[in-house]
Amino acid sequence: MKTSIATVSLSGDLRDKLIAIAAAGFDGIEIFETDFVAFDASPREVGAMVRDAGLEISLFQPFRDFEGMPGAARARAFERAERKFDLMGELGTDLVLVCSNVSPEALGGIDRAADDFRELGERAAARGIRIGFEALAWGRHINDHRDAWEVVRRANHPNVGLILDSFHTLARKIDPDTIRRIPADRIFFVQLADAPKIDMDLLYWSRHFRNMPGQGDLDVTGFMRAVAATGYDGVLSLEIFNDQFRGASARSIAVDGRRSLLALADRVKRQEPAAALSVPEMADRVAVTGVEFIEFASEGTEAATLGAMLTALGFSRSGRHVSKAVDLWTQGAIHLVVNTETDGFAHASYVLHGTNVCDIGLAVADAAATAERARGLGADMFAQPLAPGQLAIPAIRGIGGSVLHFLDAKTDLARVWEIEFTPLPAAPGTGVGLCRIDHIAQSMRYEEMLTWLLFYTTIFETAKTPMVDVVDPAGLVRSQAIESPDGGFRVTLNGAENTRTLAGHFLAESFGSAVQHIAFTTDDIFSSAAALAANGFETLAISPNYYADLGARLGLDAELVTRLRAANILYDRDETGEFFQLYSRTWGEGFFFEIVQRRGGYRGYGAVNAPFRIAAQKRGMRPTGMPRA
Ligand code: MG
Ligand code: MG
Repeated sequence: MKTSIATVSLSGDLRDKLIAIAAAGFDGIEIFETDFVAFDASPREVGAMVRDAGLEISLFQPFRDFEGMPGAARARAFERAERKFDLMGELGTDLVLVCSNVSPEALGGIDRAADDFRELGERAAARGIRIGFEALAWGRHINDHRDAWEVVRRANHPNVGLILDSFHTLARKIDPDTIRRIPADRIFFVQLADAPKIDMDLLYWSRHFRNMPGQGDLDVTGFMRAVAATGYDGVLSLEIFNDQFRGASARSIAVDGRRSLLALADRVKRQEPAAALSVPEMADRVAVTGVEFIEFASEGTEAATLGAMLTALGFSRSGRHVSKAVDLWTQGAIHLVVNTETDGFAHASYVLHGTNVCDIGLAVADAAATAERARGLGADMFAQPLAPGQLAIPAIRGIGGSVLHFLDAKTDLARVWEIEFTPLPAAPGTGVGLCRIDHIAQSMRYEEMLTWLLFYTTIFETAKTPMVDVVDPAGLVRSQAIESPDGGFRVTLNGAENTRTLAGHFLAESFGSAVQHIAFTTDDIFSSAAALAANGFETLAISPNYYADLGARLGLDAELVTRLRAANILYDRDETGEFFQLYSRTWGEGFFFEIVQRRGGYRGYGAVNAPFRIAAQKRGMRPTGMPRA
């Protein structure tokens, strides 16, 4: 297979796009006529520029309103085609996309269209050009790949083939398995796009909301499995019309695009092992069994404040690094690391963001395979010189420049705490019953959410849950959870649209730090709340109005409501179980801890409570932002 991307998918002028596309490792591009027309260079110069960037022009598009035209309009359509062929010759490409006719003048008729394509095929063959026919979902007479294929079949010309586009097939809910009956050599090109499920006009949906395979809700994998089953092993190309992408960094969108294509092809190859699709070798998606550690970068008085907060949360300082200014804090199966080194990555992170989570350690099935897969999918690898006694732990860059380390039970990595840390004498028992990390909440600009969604779901064996809107009094924050199948690893991505929201404020004031809150689980929230109070932990005070509403809304018994209210515990339930949450006060620019208890099969995150929690947090923060610590 070869990978390609349409130039319309990216922002910038043609030169910027080519640089980004080549850097991401694509083989070729689809060149859109408008991109070319808007660019100030001759077709020959553009062709040379593409080839100088190490790319090929896989496709030229679009050629519209061709087939089924009557009389003079038909003659004009052929004349227009000849001019496109001239242009293609100068650009140096041999494949043109003809999309199905949307003109009210078009007459329809499969045989009429087939005759037009046979004649066009003859003219194209004389120039060494191939014609690919694509059924637009909103084509006037042809809007289904099965009809486009019938036209191609009846045209019966070697220079006329089919172009398949996942959006057009899946948006119309056409069974992709019907592709399996098409011979591979008649499929000239395959375009891939996903999209969120939104009920709207097909054309508008397609032009504004397409996204990368894996980012939306369409069964692009099922579509691609059918394509692969035919024996097709040609170009897989992204044709993504998305307003947000056109406003984003071309480089980042190109990296996402290539990642999505490789991950899709890898998945398809595993599900259709007999397919001819040639896919780069990489490890399969890796299972994450949990969060092994969370590391804070801090210094001086801030580190002391953080330590006091951890103590109030029931953590004990239980180890000291053998060669670095790094402390280990533990409770239950939770490992928190506080790094106060004055050089290296953690220090640089502190200098940029203030006290923050700079590093997350994931417990995975195979640490080396995780790093290998991440590298294959274009992740930025991370390494720094090892201090005496330190293990080489595979790592990559995550959100906001932070780091993800991978630990497994196969090697010495399983004994990292023993090997790298000297135990400290046990402090008097101050535990409050926290067992493990339930979820990590990462804030980002809304535009970055799809990037990180793709990052987590392509590298790890995780899936996304539906996006929910969290109402902050100052604006909307979208929240999407990424979870491993057994819930052992949960991350919530929170996309802020402005800096007046709590998430947006945190992001702006911490200069892009990502982890805004960490949630721990307890098996008994009421006893944990009592123990926290005894430790002097400051719980976020929730408005009494919340409890009056809660009791009425869910018909809870008065005694339970009284207990919840006394301990500032928020409550939610669904068909399968119950959820209890309590929060710390915010710290710095809006970082906080959460303590949760899940009862039964509750899988959510208490999104319904978020507006009340956010209002309480904002009341507790000074309007101009709090001083650090
Ligand atoms: Mg298309
Ligand atoms: Mg939470």
